[in-house]
Amino acid sequence: MDELSKRYQAVRERITQAALQAGRNPDSVQLLVVSKTFGADNVAQVAALGQCDFGENYVQEGVDKIAALQGVKGLVWHCIGPLQSNKTRPVAEHFDWVHSVDRLKIAQRLSEQRPAHLPPLQVCLQVNIDGGATKAGVVPAEALALAQAVAVLPRLVLRGLMTIPEPSETFEAQLAVHQQAKRMFDDLKAALNLPQFDTLSMGMSADLEAAVQAGSTLVRVGTAVFGAR
Ligand SMILES: *Cc1c(COP(=O)(O)O)cnc(C)c1O
Repeated sequence: MDELSKRYQAVRERITQAALQAGRNPDSVQLLVVSKTFGADNVAQVAALGQCDFGENYVQEGVDKIAALQGVKGLVWHCIGPLQSNKTRPVAEHFDWVHSVDRLKIAQRLSEQRPAHLPPLQVCLQVNIDGGATKAGVVPAEALALAQAVAVLPRLVLRGLMTIPEPSETFEAQLAVHQQAKRMFDDLKAALNLPQFDTLSMGMSADLEAAVQAGSTLVRVGTAVFGAR
């Protein structure tokens, strides 16, 4: 096996072990491979191993890679980076998912700009769960109001929440913040009563075990698959 395949399989194994440890079905945790800064050839290699979902942070880089890989069937593209309102159109036209919706204006533009021939865009709200320094994401107190407003937009489907906590040293500290996000997800799910609100996008290379323990349904992993950026 080549290095990339080994690393990919090792990440899958980490997810499986974390799920079993948490008493969860490993199939209940989806792997999103984050391919930012890596080339279309690398994505194609991982796709050949059976991976379908890929995440990109930078709009133009993502759009270029999506175009380069049009011949590979079954790929699902997730935009996970911060979005400015003047960049929403290419996202609405080329991606399948957006995890980083954090204000209504962005959601409205994505809905208006989603082409009629494509299925609705699947979106998660990014929540600033720990008041982290990046300040990206809606503050928890405003998440329900934003979710209610996004849920009625015609060309979007509100699928859940995404979090990017500040790095923590210990498993316990990682777990605490992920559990906070899980509680918020459960509260919102109960309040919204939307059957399609099923995605808790949290956990990365350094903290996926804690995220799965806390109830993540989708981990976003770059470094552990592709190596350091
Ligand atoms: C880069 C990035 C990831 C992947 O992080 P790794 O530590 O490389 O696994 C996940 N989510 C977001 C939003 C990112 O920007």
